[in-house]
Amino acid sequence: MNTGLNVCMRCGKVRVVVKTYKEYIGSSLIVTKLTACPDPDCQTIVDRQLVKDQKLRDERELANVRRQTEAKERRTHNISQKAA
Ligand SMILES: [Zn+2]
Repeated sequence: MNTGLNVCMRCGKVRVVVKTYKEYIGSSLIVTKLTACPDPDCQTIVDRQLVKDQKLRDERELANVRRQTEAKERRTHNISQKAA
């Protein structure tokens, strides 16, 4: 099995590059390749799954940020109480 190839997680076909993004991060050029399954029906299903996964991740991330913000506010509150 060639691990260098990007294969579809659903059907196992070799994914094709549909778009290439180039961006500089610092001084290094980062090339991001957007790949898709050659089977459009399969890609639609994969996309739907990805959106679902991303949504779950976003929600978890949001909950994390909220928790951190609350912890920070509590700390700030404690400090100002001590100072007063
Ligand atoms: Zn596929």
